[in-house]
Amino acid sequence: MVILKTAREIAAMREAGRISSRALREAGKAVEPGVSTLEIDSIVRKYIEKQGATPSFLGYGGFPASACISVNNVVIHGIPSARQILKAGDIVSIDVGAQFNGYHGDNAYTFACGDVSAEAQALMDATKEALFEGIKRAVAGGRVGDIGSAVQRYVEARSYSVVRDFVGHGVGAKLHEDPSVPNYGTPGRGVRLMPGMAIAIEPMVNQGTHRVKVLDDDWTTITADGKLSAHFEHTIAITSNGPVIMTLPD
Ligand code: MG
Repeated sequence: MVILKTAREIAAMREAGRISSRALREAGKAVEPGVSTLEIDSIVRKYIEKQGATPSFLGYGGFPASACISVNNVVIHGIPSARQILKAGDIVSIDVGAQFNGYHGDNAYTFACGDVSAEAQALMDATKEALFEGIKRAVAGGRVGDIGSAVQRYVEARSYSVVRDFVGHGVGAKLHEDPSVPNYGTPGRGVRLMPGMAIAIEPMVNQGTHRVKVLDDDWTTITADGKLSAHFEHTIAITSNGPVIMTLPD
């Protein structure tokens, strides 16, 4: 069931979104060769807690950290580790959520660690742009399929693929609410978009096949062919005046 939010709830969600966004920005500043992914997770956790908020992911379904940190061929749900040391050329997808005053914000960004290959940079640029193609279609009266098809078209025109097994989602008092927001679809199909809906749009884009595998830790999700993957996400409110990005730092 899709839960529509009042203007007051949307305002509260913007606070949670702001904290999530700033936490992600802090995480990005820490991405450099020689840093462990656990150190970055610690920065995220401390930042969120200092704001009087709670890391949305910590303990969610048993997830052991505050941020998902997914390097190179890891698509999503990478578990931060002291043993994983970033090196120049890595691409580092960081997904951060914060709960504040009862509402969640959820966002992700893929950062370059030092100088990355032109191919890696192109993948990151296309994924970020695909997110904004999706956001443009997050308008009242449209359908969820309008968002997914815009993302998919943009991505596949550049010979990349969109992950099918994981999708965007509604956001609110719960981190994951209805509807599902796939990064693929057919224009004019799916749940109708209405003012008061809050959704996370989060393209996960692979260099090669769209197929993924989940490792034995039940979290770490990698590309089936070992090629790179990128991930960008914003939490959006659908309003009568168009989409409003809630996960912005200012
Ligand atoms: Mg999400």
